[in-house]
Amino acid sequence: MNFKSLIRDVPDFPKEGVIFKDITLLLQNPKALKETANALYKLLEGQKIDKVVGMESRGFIFGPILAKKLNAGFVPVRKPGKLPSKTLSETYDLEYGTDTLEIHIDGIEKGDRVLIHDDVLATGGTAKATCRLIEKLGGEIVQLNFLIELTFLEGGSKINNYPVKSLVKY
Ligand code: AMP
Repeated sequence: MNFKSLIRDVPDFPKEGVIFKDITLLLQNPKALKETANALYKLLEGQKIDKVVGMESRGFIFGPILAKKLNAGFVPVRKPGKLPSKTLSETYDLEYGTDTLEIHIDGIEKGDRVLIHDDVLATGGTAKATCRLIEKLGGEIVQLNFLIELTFLEGGSKINNYPVKSLVKY
């Protein structure tokens, strides 16, 4: 399937200079939704996974679908103040300022084999902070997989000590 034909570029969203990769056309197409999930699942090549960690908010779309296919659990990583129980936080640098992500401390158990999933790998800041959260809780990162990788932003270089796979590259 030609996934790229269902990924829409939206210039200057959410702010000027950003070309937003909109996956809603792909999500609303029944065949594309199924084939995307199957293709992301195949990237695992049969490896055993205990937990899929997805980042707010579009990591919450395919994350749980992958978890179901893998017979794994799903663990959300969220922006500050959204998770109700005890959390661990990680702050990382943006071009201007910082951002913070949180995970429930009981979301990952020591030795859990973890797949990290998000829709887009851009600068890699989100992915790297998520890796740190998981490792602080004793999880083992088996793979990071993305629907889209914006290779020109070189986010992969921030997480090059882990297996990183993506379905579509720009
Ligand atoms: P980053 O931390 O820079 O790798 O950014 C990754 C996060 O921002 C992901 O959760 C994406 O959903 C979102 N994101 C970044 N750039 C884009 C883009 N051009 N189009 C859509 N989403 C993006």
